[in-house]
Amino acid sequence: MKKIAFFDTKPYDKVWFDKLNTQYEISYFENKLNSKTVKLATGYDAVCAFVNDEIDKDVIDSLYSYGIKLILMRCAGYSNVDFKEAYGKIHVLRVPAYSPNAIAEYAMSLLLTLNRKTHKAYNRTREFNFSLVGLGGFDLYGKTIGVIGTGRIGKSFIRICKGFGMNVLAYDLYPAKDAGYNYVSLDELLEKSDIISLHCPLTKETYHMLDKEEFKKMKKGVFIINTSRGALIDTEALLTSLNKKKVKAAGLDVYEEEANVFYEDFSGKIIKDDVLALLISKPNVIVTSHQAFLTDEALMNIAETTILNMRQFFSNDKLDNEVCYQCDEKDKKEDCKKIKNGRCF
Ligand code: NAD
Repeated sequence: MKKIAFFDTKPYDKVWFDKLNTQYEISYFENKLNSKTVKLATGYDAVCAFVNDEIDKDVIDSLYSYGIKLILMRCAGYSNVDFKEAYGKIHVLRVPAYSPNAIAEYAMSLLLTLNRKTHKAYNRTREFNFSLVGLGGFDLYGKTIGVIGTGRIGKSFIRICKGFGMNVLAYDLYPAKDAGYNYVSLDELLEKSDIISLHCPLTKETYHMLDKEEFKKMKKGVFIINTSRGALIDTEALLTSLNKKKVKAAGLDVYEEEANVFYEDFSGKIIKDDVLALLISKPNVIVTSHQAFLTDEALMNIAETTILNMRQFFSNDKLDNEVCYQCDEKDKKEDCKKIKNGRCF
């Protein structure tokens, strides 16, 4: 029986894997996978990792030296993997679409909460404070929402926004054909949107795509929603824009320095990250702990696809969900090994 080492496991991860797995011996470790913990993978046939594991050169080299040829990412994004280092040594498989709706719905819930302040109303009425002062918002109907990245999650989010009667402006490197909404330049989107929601991956090109200069181009009073990856936003620039009231509110399910904090309980401890503490202290900011994926449907799909990924790898089949550093370079597709052989190398 092949042995899989699961890293950064929480109780909710185990439920569906325990239900659906019949073929593999899974050991669940609570530790994140990084250069300090990689030794735990000795003697295993594969590792399964998540969004905040640090799969850098050292980790890849160690895994390879233990004879491990498979990394299973139980998530869609993979900006935490050193792909160039892994290429030719270790196959990296992911779960490309476990529930785009889960993330899109969560992005809308952040927007609704920020705008209508239901989180504050909840706290008030629990203390029998029935005042409405300071709880005002605006109608979403008729407002312009700028959606950056119109892949699986972006499209689902746009569908929801259209249901609210919002005007959608979209920006993507690869605009969809016959989309039924307007694609514009990034600058036009920044200038015209009342709300901006990020749905593109973190890459070299998208790192800090919303920085000081981009915030300057936005409408005064814009709302920012980020359920994608923290480092899409320069957090210092966001803080400045919040202080200057250029940004009226921000809903953040991701944060660029989240790796050491998110998914852990720090209540009763002093957080050393002053930037995060400042963000959380603002009444017009909601920070949540990278939880947009957390629905029953998504967790079941993650387990199903990850088990399928294991099966395809260990039976030497083609790997539907393999990714390598060349997969994003769409113009290289003609000589793509995966198209020819079913595997990236
Ligand atoms: P996807 O690959 O289906 O879509 C991404 C879109 O972004 C594509 O259309 C692509 O062309 C576009 N894009 C790439 N580079 C761009 C750029 N420089 N500018 C504008 N657009 C660009 O991915 P998806 O499934 O929609 O997921 C989007 C992101 O959501 C993931 O990369 C991940 O970071 C994030 N995510 C977050 C959670 C969470 O729990 N918060 C869960 C899943 C995914």
